[in-house]
Amino acid sequence: MSTIRFQALKEALNRNVIKVTETQRRSTLFGSNVFNHDTMLQYLTKDAYVSVLDAIENGSKINRKIADQIASAMKEWALSKGVTHYTHWFQPLTGATAEKHDAFFETIGNDRGMEKFGGDQLVQQEPDASSFPHGGIRNTFEARGYTAWDPTSPAFIYGTTLCIPTVFVAYTGEALDYKTPLLRALHAVDTSATAVAKYFDKNVKKVNASLGWEQEYFLIDRALVNSRPDLVITGRTLLGHSPAKGQQLDDHYFGSIPQRALSFMMDLEKECMLLGIPVKTRHNEVAPNQFELAPIHEETNLAVDHNALLMDVMEKIASRHHLKVLLHEKPFEGVNGSGKHNNWSLATSTGVNLLSPGKTPMSNLQFLTFFINTIKAINENEELMRAGIASASNDHRLGANEAPPAIMSVFIGRQLTEVLRELEGVTDGKLSPEEKTDLKLNVVGKIPEILLDNTDRNRTSPFAFTGNKFEFRAVGSKANCANPMTILNTIVAKQLKEFKIEVDQLIDKKSLKKDEAIFNILREYIKKSKNILFDGNGYGIEWEKEAKKRGLSNNRTTPEALKAKISKKSLDLFSEMNVMNETECTSRYEIEIEEYVIRIQIEGRVLGDIARNHVIPTAIKYQNMMINNVTGLKNLYGTGFKKYAKEQMEIIESISRHIGDINTYINKMIEERKKAETLSIEKKASNYCNKVKPLFADIRYNCDALELLIDDELWPLTKYRELLFTR
Ligand code: ADP
Ligand code: MG
Repeated sequence: MSTIRFQALKEALNRNVIKVTETQRRSTLFGSNVFNHDTMLQYLTKDAYVSVLDAIENGSKINRKIADQIASAMKEWALSKGVTHYTHWFQPLTGATAEKHDAFFETIGNDRGMEKFGGDQLVQQEPDASSFPHGGIRNTFEARGYTAWDPTSPAFIYGTTLCIPTVFVAYTGEALDYKTPLLRALHAVDTSATAVAKYFDKNVKKVNASLGWEQEYFLIDRALVNSRPDLVITGRTLLGHSPAKGQQLDDHYFGSIPQRALSFMMDLEKECMLLGIPVKTRHNEVAPNQFELAPIHEETNLAVDHNALLMDVMEKIASRHHLKVLLHEKPFEGVNGSGKHNNWSLATSTGVNLLSPGKTPMSNLQFLTFFINTIKAINENEELMRAGIASASNDHRLGANEAPPAIMSVFIGRQLTEVLRELEGVTDGKLSPEEKTDLKLNVVGKIPEILLDNTDRNRTSPFAFTGNKFEFRAVGSKANCANPMTILNTIVAKQLKEFKIEVDQLIDKKSLKKDEAIFNILREYIKKSKNILFDGNGYGIEWEKEAKKRGLSNNRTTPEALKAKISKKSLDLFSEMNVMNETECTSRYEIEIEEYVIRIQIEGRVLGDIARNHVIPTAIKYQNMMINNVTGLKNLYGTGFKKYAKEQMEIIESISRHIGDINTYINKMIEERKKAETLSIEKKASNYCNKVKPLFADIRYNCDALELLIDDELWPLTKYRELLFTR
């Protein structure tokens, strides 16, 4: 009997639900462990408070004296909550979060101690971070990296540690993390969008990009996960036969949440409340043991931090419940994978959502301006958008006939399609008073505040307008949202900047009125951006053909997709918008392509090991049982034995065939890996993608066939039905 699997099953089946109670209202818990406005008012001097606010709202620098005051206040607050350590908390390009804890404790002389935390420690640190990926940026000894306080994201307490969100940059100024380019992109979109918003309201001082992510994940018993080396090491199952019942019945989706999962969620949500993460929605997802959690949207930098923090907290809370959270995009073949929808919009300092249809024709013209500019930005940068979500794990969704496709397109719904069609007919140049009135009353003025078909329709669209925001659905579940959000906000910033220039030109040179100029430019934009609009089935082969005709890219794999990150167009874009210079872009590209190779390499090794060390020996064991049986029958019946041993002999032969095939394919895979190792990184990635990875399916096919043949008692790997249906 295969011990690990059955022990794990026994353990999993004997679990009790860990009780979680909520005694306090969530609103009173919310933000208790965050150095937020209320806390600041309580602990900071007025000068210090004003200084922080100014830094948050206007990006102003905080001087050293004030920083000392803030540090001291943070320390007092943290100590009052039993905190002992502080850390600069950052997001290196590994995708995970990083922290190195230092105690507040210091000695004075030899015999006395006290808690200390000054402005210096708050503002800047130099972690020994030489092992973080840098893509060649920090090659020299001089070019070390440092972390610097990001006052726009509040410090928080996790456990007994005060965490200070920081950027991570090289001394030469180049970004080594996800946050730095994101902050620059958010600044760019603020500048461009504010300038355009001022056409409609002079009082707009700032525009914030907002992000509301929806996090999908699998929740599996810890013992079961630990019994599968592939899940532990690669985050996904590299083999395993589909269960007789998968998600075909859709009986899990939105069903009642299983007790253990619910208990985990309550615990997690409580922690989120303390950390100021405004979680709101929880439900079962489509696949068995798959769930989703979504917060209320926030300013993008904060939302990104909160998602990164959440992914970390999820794991910790799960372990308390003897569960494991699988954030991988495709842990199980044959059932849905996980994504992280990124809902995105732009909001003004005056409280207006620029992507929400308004009540008046003027506010609707403003809505259309931002709406159409976003569509144009996506149309012109669809390939870069695809690159922003590329990863080895997300390839299992994109371009693998699973939601959503690798082809970028924008869904806008019937009503807005109609509005755009009408706007396309706007007269070139000056508009007659009648036309203006007609536009205002019958086109712009008729956009309903609630767009009926934009809520949840067309789930196949990777970038859908959902009534008052766009929803980017192709982001991977384990991705850091900063990467796609940096790209989206940068392309929209660039687009709005161009729009402003073009409108101003029409006003200055052709003496058009402001609204006439806007109508004229929007008309041209609509004509130019038609290719990206698509309301049909994004999974169909017809769309692939159609998209090709339209000239849209269809980069199914990461090595193909990533190239767009270092095209001349992208390098120019990022540098023009001051988001990343060429070194930063190329180093990121290198890190990502390298990571791709390593991931596939690891999967190849693990699959090879499992197939050779678990599957084949088990197959031989069972085959020997069959051989004994056949020999016994022969002894018993003599020459007539075949009548009774027919099935057994077929099994013996099948097993030999599968073992043979497994060995052949593993040898082939190892050969291909060896070949790939000699190549330059790009060719290597392409070989891993096109030569190594396809063999996984061949190896798996034979292993899965053996799983069906062999005695269940002997099978060493926890089966799909056990992983997916144990609650
Ligand atoms: P659903 O899509 O399930 O109908 P909602 O439309 O209310 O629900 O919200 C879905 C997600 O979109 C939530 O995570 C929410 O925070 C986010 N969201 C709502 N409004 C905005 C906005 N203006 N900007 C960014 N995200 C938003
Ligand atoms: Mg949604």
